[in-house]
Amino acid sequence: MSAGNKGVLIIYTGGTIACARRDPNNSESPLAVVSKDRFVREVPSIGLMQQKFTVDIHEVVPPLDSTEMKPENWVQIAEIIEDNYDDYEGFVVLHGTDTMAYTASALSFMLVNLAKPVVLTGAQLPIIGRTRTDGNRNLITAIEIANPSYSKLPAVKEVCILFDEFLLRGNRTSKTSASGFRGFHSPNYPPLGEVGEQIQIYADRLIRPDETKAFRVRKHLDPNVAIQLVYPGIQLTDAFRNVVQTKGQTGLILLAYGTGNVPTSKPFLDAIEIARKDNQVVLVVTQCLQGAVKLGAYETSAVLLDRGLVSGSDITHEAALCKMMVLLGDEDLSVENVMVEVQKDSVGEQSFSIHTHTISETRGTLETGGVEPRTRWRGAVRNVGSDWPTDEISKVLLRFYDATMDAVADTDEETSLEIDCHIGVESSSQLDRDAKSFAGTFVRSKADFRSMVMIDITETFKDLVSHNDPASFTLSLVDSAVGTRLTWQKAELAIMTNSNSAR
Ligand code: ASP
Repeated sequence: MSAGNKGVLIIYTGGTIACARRDPNNSESPLAVVSKDRFVREVPSIGLMQQKFTVDIHEVVPPLDSTEMKPENWVQIAEIIEDNYDDYEGFVVLHGTDTMAYTASALSFMLVNLAKPVVLTGAQLPIIGRTRTDGNRNLITAIEIANPSYSKLPAVKEVCILFDEFLLRGNRTSKTSASGFRGFHSPNYPPLGEVGEQIQIYADRLIRPDETKAFRVRKHLDPNVAIQLVYPGIQLTDAFRNVVQTKGQTGLILLAYGTGNVPTSKPFLDAIEIARKDNQVVLVVTQCLQGAVKLGAYETSAVLLDRGLVSGSDITHEAALCKMMVLLGDEDLSVENVMVEVQKDSVGEQSFSIHTHTISETRGTLETGGVEPRTRWRGAVRNVGSDWPTDEISKVLLRFYDATMDAVADTDEETSLEIDCHIGVESSSQLDRDAKSFAGTFVRSKADFRSMVMIDITETFKDLVSHNDPASFTLSLVDSAVGTRLTWQKAELAIMTNSNSAR
């Protein structure tokens, strides 16, 4: 036993890895989870590892088939880690494969400022009573990864899944095979490590937690979150309405097509909008295994943005569900706060973040012609915040929601608009396009107008605005056919960034 090594705590929750045939003499007999004591007695690799360093086992009572897992069980696992945090080098969670990706995701959001390995593993075949099994190798490899002081591997200070030949970030993982030994994939983030003759950990892909921050556990989850798949021919039946509009439901995840597209029929959109108006947070996630939601990229998704839905980037539906439960369960966060936080990457669960700020003078009108032309509008954000990485900005947009464009006078000319945006100027200033403050233009004819206005202000924002600055935005009508009016109900600044897993 290496001196000073605190060893590993195995949290024994059940699953196939912890199963044996009820009747060992009958190969048709069903599998059942065995007690931790029997597991320790009959799995020799535990004893072999115990000769090298401490390996303790804590049983979650009762150990389960993971299909029975509930948020309460996640809290139980998180509390075991909390109670034993200082006493071990790392933790292995033995778990069934069916819901392992959910448990790993939930733990990643619950274990705040985690600075030790938490490695989930399981198996497609039990260990007890088998000679051919993936369980032994998964168990031993997970224990080695959870004990970097012994194995001399880079410390994986995050929640991960070790399965077969891959170590994957827990909240990026989905179960992709019901029976194959490969079992799991992480389609939107590369493996954290690979297992062969050697165990290779890719240190540059790991989360680097700020270890000056104290480890703590978020234990209050709100389970009132539903997932609705979008599919061709979806019927607006009572069953559908019940899923999206159930009383007391606080969150809805819409599994949309591709980059976040849905059918644009009004009854469908109205049904979803009612969920939002009921104060539910409605998060759009792609049903594709790979790639991200980009609300606003197509008209079929811009309609969702305009109805107050928010974007889940390339998060898995497993991680989205757990993130929503943890955020909605946080009593310090209002619904508006959750809508802001859910769009940001917090523990490496998504590749992009959207940092949104509502602009103070949020409604507005611009109008030429008519009795009282209004050719300027100015709105501001008091503080643009500092939780976005300055050198990872991909786009900055001003978004104007629920906008309408009308003609205010009878004219044969085609109604159209051209609007300039300047950053950080007084509303009475001279505004020209050569000025440093000029940030972007919006040009649209009525025929092409949809209910959202977006102005790309990326470059000027990057030049003029720093962390924690106030920022003001002045819109001016440059040119307009006689008598055009643009009004909107809400204006927002959206700073989009690539995620940076070192935080
Ligand atoms: N039903 C089992 C479970 O998730 C399957 C497995 O572990 O592979 O607990």
